[in-house]
Amino acid sequence: MGKLAVFIETTEDGIKLASLELLSAGQNAGQEVCALVLDGRADAYREELAEHGAHTIAAVTSPDGLLDDYHPGLYAQAVVAAMQDCDCEALLAVTSALGRDLLPRVAAALDCALVMDCVDIDLEAQTARKSHFSGKTWATLKLIGTTCVYGIRPHALSVEAVAVEAQHRIVNVSLQADDNLRVLRVEQKEQTGKVELTEAKVIISGGRAMSNAENYQILFDCAKPIHAAVGASRAAVDAGYAPHEMQVGQTGKTVSPDLYIACGISGAIQHFAGMKTSKVIVAINNDKSAPIFSKCDYGIVGDLFEVVPELSRLLSATTTE
Ligand code: FAD
Repeated sequence: MGKLAVFIETTEDGIKLASLELLSAGQNAGQEVCALVLDGRADAYREELAEHGAHTIAAVTSPDGLLDDYHPGLYAQAVVAAMQDCDCEALLAVTSALGRDLLPRVAAALDCALVMDCVDIDLEAQTARKSHFSGKTWATLKLIGTTCVYGIRPHALSVEAVAVEAQHRIVNVSLQADDNLRVLRVEQKEQTGKVELTEAKVIISGGRAMSNAENYQILFDCAKPIHAAVGASRAAVDAGYAPHEMQVGQTGKTVSPDLYIACGISGAIQHFAGMKTSKVIVAINNDKSAPIFSKCDYGIVGDLFEVVPELSRLLSATTTE
């Protein structure tokens, strides 16, 4: 059986936590894991990748600098070439925006099975569990063929990091220029210092009940001491209270934090589709018959404008003690 490749997704701040978890998931499954690093900073990540179970760290480079910036076609070529160079049969990557762009191209180039947004996988049996119809049903899919590409929902797999001795390997790939797609510009996101939704272990989301954009400040205040991210329902986004990048749900982001706190959110199926794999769900709603109460682990019947500030006060007191 070939090795398992893990595509390492990075930002300016370093490796995405969800990518590190995939290394551990592969290692926990008894696989020989190869981390594919395409951003030119493999050396800097060496320790962190080894700590999470990468047996091989493949620094994938292109002599003509074609990997300096993200380009879906060139990145796909490089991933395929690196997998072949490192003798990898399966690929894991996070189903992030970049993963959704990249993985189908890799699978097409390898002419192999692809499954996206998995919440559980069995690499030996080549099966993957994922939801369908906005989370109304769950299916376990069997992937056919020896080469498979798995997109994993961020933080969905429960893993334990075990450090290993990692080998460093430089993989020089020669790429065919891809004129079908040209990256015209890359817009840097404004540096707000806020925690990114798909990276967060704790998310506090506000719905239509927030009533305006300014009121979201109480959620940010609550989130700060525990490094949580702030999300929103579509009703709140549509009303202009929060930007679309904060939307959780079927047409927003899919998240699996350890703790999801829904404030003034009714619990529509489309919202639930994006957060139902959260480990613990807490709902704060002033309507005791709101549907969210039948789907949460803990429910607080109350006015969020009273409950959230009290929660902030308690969290600040606990974290400064
Ligand atoms: P509401 O349903 O209006 O609920 C507001 C809740 O706040 C109520 O339960 C109310 O009791 C409570 N409340 C009011 N005041 C207070 C207070 N002071 N304190 C505490 N609680 C209070 N929705 C998403 O969220 N994400 C998606 O990605 C998404 N995609 C969709 C895709 C499609 C194709 C469709 C058709 C819909 C989609 N929706 C999505 C919309 C979804 O159906 C719901 O309309 C939406 O989730 C409702 O948002 P909400 O819970 O904030 O608002």
